[in-house]
Amino acid sequence: MGLFVYKFGGTSVGSVERIKAVAEKVKQAHDQGDQLVIVVSAMSGETNRLIALANEIQKYPNSREMDVLLSTGEQVTTSLLSMALHELGCPACSYTGGQVKILTDSSHTKARIINIDDKRMREDLTAGRVVVVAGFQGVDDKGNITTLGRGGSDTTAVALAAALKADECCIFTDVDGVYTTDPRVEPNARRLEKITFEEMLEMASLGSKVLQIRSVEFAGKYNVPLRVLSSFTEGKGTLITYEDDQMEQALISGIAFNRDEAKLTITGVPDLPGVAYKILGPIADANIEVDMIIQNIAGDETTDFTFTVHRNDYEKAKELLDSICAELGAKAVTGDVKIVKISIVGVGMRSHAGIASTMFKALADEGINIRMISTSEIKISVVVDEKYLELAVRALHSAFELDREPIES
Ligand code: ADP
Ligand code: ASP
Ligand code: MG
Repeated sequence: MGLFVYKFGGTSVGSVERIKAVAEKVKQAHDQGDQLVIVVSAMSGETNRLIALANEIQKYPNSREMDVLLSTGEQVTTSLLSMALHELGCPACSYTGGQVKILTDSSHTKARIINIDDKRMREDLTAGRVVVVAGFQGVDDKGNITTLGRGGSDTTAVALAAALKADECCIFTDVDGVYTTDPRVEPNARRLEKITFEEMLEMASLGSKVLQIRSVEFAGKYNVPLRVLSSFTEGKGTLITYEDDQMEQALISGIAFNRDEAKLTITGVPDLPGVAYKILGPIADANIEVDMIIQNIAGDETTDFTFTVHRNDYEKAKELLDSICAELGAKAVTGDVKIVKISIVGVGMRSHAGIASTMFKALADEGINIRMISTSEIKISVVVDEKYLELAVRALHSAFELDREPIES
């Protein structure tokens, strides 16, 4: 018996049948005496449908209005799940983020949670009711509805678990845990029993959308036991945890990839002090985040400068760069949206040399050209042409023998 937060993602509540199946699962745990707070996403495809509706009216809708729109998806599933629980004779009560209340800042569409009032939830739990909360949403100090960014229901779940000091936060999804890489791209991917917060954070920030980055940050910061598991099948899933002696001794834990980036290059820039600032200053002023950066010097005292941005920001960044090009007297601006970033992640990298060369050899053997490289203590990322995504992920998966169980320490 304990207090648990369960989160069910879009596919897990994607139809009336699925919602009924979730209700059965919740009732079982409730019958065993567990206190339960259930966080739900919108039904699968719903958030995308709402965004498409908005875009039929405006290309860049006001972000406050977007939040009012997008938050409706989650509200639908909370009430339906609550009804499904009632139908099974299980007492339950549904809440929007604002009703809980989940207080956030006012950064619409990417708000951060500031505080959670647990009073109302505690009253329900004490009275034996299951609490059903809409994921992905909150309210700012002026009462405006906010949302937490795509995939934000994971963060709602972890934040509620932290506020309630839950025994565990269980993220139920359409895969039965965190894998060495996305099992939809590499069928030989292997489920991990455990992964460290640090590695999961890298995997998430490098594109593994199985958990939203902020949910992992939150869980690490507030020491929330976090588990990813399937809503369809039984199993232990993957525990996200602190590094310990019992951890698998793999050099590389996983491979992440990100299809959301685009690359921009400005060539023939006079090689003078302040050039990087002159190029990236206006990009930053336009609130565009830059990820990887490369500058190479040509023999004629000019430099080529390349960087990546989110694909959604590509057009805006290209426009800005065209005018920067004219101002600096540079040669040309080119861009490419058909690229992907592939990264290998592992804390084992810290203490082992030769990881990068194994990575580059595996890609070379497949004839895959590397366009950009960046490294940090526990990851190496490369940018390659989009058409090589599957090939590259599989080649790296096999080069690092990720399909094999690592030797126990
Ligand atoms: P939900 O709707 O439940 O939030 P998501 O689609 O956000 O589910 O996340 C689950 C998906 O994450 C899986 O279907 C899988 O394709 C993808 N994924 C990416 N990387 C991984 C990984 N390393 N391990 C498991 N799943 C991954
Ligand atoms: N429904 C939101 C999305 O699709 C939030 C979530 O599912 O976590 O991004
Ligand atoms: Mg998700």
